[in-house]
Amino acid sequence: MPQISCSFCGRRKNEVMMLLSGIDAHICNYCIEQGHQVVLEEMRPKRSEPVELNINLIKPIDMKRHLDQYVIGQDDAKKSITVAVYNHYKRLMQPKTNDDVTIEKSNIIMVGETGTGKTYLARSIAKILEVPFCIADATVITEAGYVGEDVETILTRLLQAADYNVEAAERGIVYIDEIDKIARKSDNPSITRDVSGEGVQQALLKLLEGSVVNVPPQGGRKHPDQRLIALNTENILFICGGAFDGIERHITKRINTRPIGFSGDRRLNDTFERGHLMRYISALDLKSFGLIPELIGRLPVLTHLEPLDRDALMQILTEPKNAITKQYNKLFQMEGITLHWDPSALNYIVDQALQYGLGARGLRSICESIITDAMFEMPSQTGVKELTVSLEYAREKFGKSSTYQLRSVA
Ligand code: ADP
Repeated sequence: MPQISCSFCGRRKNEVMMLLSGIDAHICNYCIEQGHQVVLEEMRPKRSEPVELNINLIKPIDMKRHLDQYVIGQDDAKKSITVAVYNHYKRLMQPKTNDDVTIEKSNIIMVGETGTGKTYLARSIAKILEVPFCIADATVITEAGYVGEDVETILTRLLQAADYNVEAAERGIVYIDEIDKIARKSDNPSITRDVSGEGVQQALLKLLEGSVVNVPPQGGRKHPDQRLIALNTENILFICGGAFDGIERHITKRINTRPIGFSGDRRLNDTFERGHLMRYISALDLKSFGLIPELIGRLPVLTHLEPLDRDALMQILTEPKNAITKQYNKLFQMEGITLHWDPSALNYIVDQALQYGLGARGLRSICESIITDAMFEMPSQTGVKELTVSLEYAREKFGKSSTYQLRSVA
């Protein structure tokens, strides 16, 4: 019996994952996917038709108020970001006039230790504005032709987040994490090929500056017979973030060798903490760190996030709308159990997070290790109506499983 094959592309059954049969024909999963893209493309409004901008634009102060419900502290960063985002979307909404004033795009770069809320801020902003949002990792991107992902795959994720609605994606927000990891490795750009450093920065320029980019709808490497979707990045807001470990050296060097204010001879103390120094960060420091000037130029809004201190961590644990402890309370409530957290236990959790230098990221895994046993046993126990997480309870449970939990965070 002859092997059945796709009536559209001719691939045989053993060459495809799935082959659907119709009355007189068969279709493979590849052709279904391609057909789906064609249908989506045909259904969306043509470029010449005016597209209604449906953005939930909120004034900066109100936007910050919204953010405050989720993100603790980081007031400087919140202010810079809300203003930049507000201006960005105002720019999109401006009526076409004949004057010469064009508002330029205000992509953002955030500098701050890991776990201080960079991603969370970007995600929360996108949520408030109700625009498509995606996170990309700068370290997995390499120059075209090398092992790794093409820079265009960043936009694939945005398209996916927008359900392949190109217009929506073209007004979305992209967060590029670990931008510091693609810094130039040496000051001399031409010694060796730097495929994951400067080359990637060059590739990113294309996206950040605003151009039409051909995006593979399913991601991965581009290949010749793949259908590509054209996406204009002019109105996409890019927010980059990175820890920039060691950048304080560059800041100190610059500040100490340049006059500050009017007196000229005031020098900053060497013992200035990183957190304080970060307030003085400027584009020059990013350049000394290894970002190329062209890239810095396309990220005009530079802001920093403060390291989280004990008070901030305690707040994160208990206060935001979806604070970690509130999430556990809800989980237990669903079992008919009331969960109490002793203040001493909360202090202990914050202490552990500080001790291990895990920032807010550590809070969850520490709580998880304390509460897992109860979550395992209590659903099967009848008659138990409450649980109090005391200091002793927290110590005992965390002590038992800390090594495992902490390894999984690192
Ligand atoms: P970063 O991107 O700076 O490494 P994240 O934004 O991924 O850090 O933070 C990790 C998690 O820690 C977030 O999902 C959030 O739950 C929590 N978190 C971090 N910073 C804050 C903050 N300032 N306020 C509230 N939660 C925070």
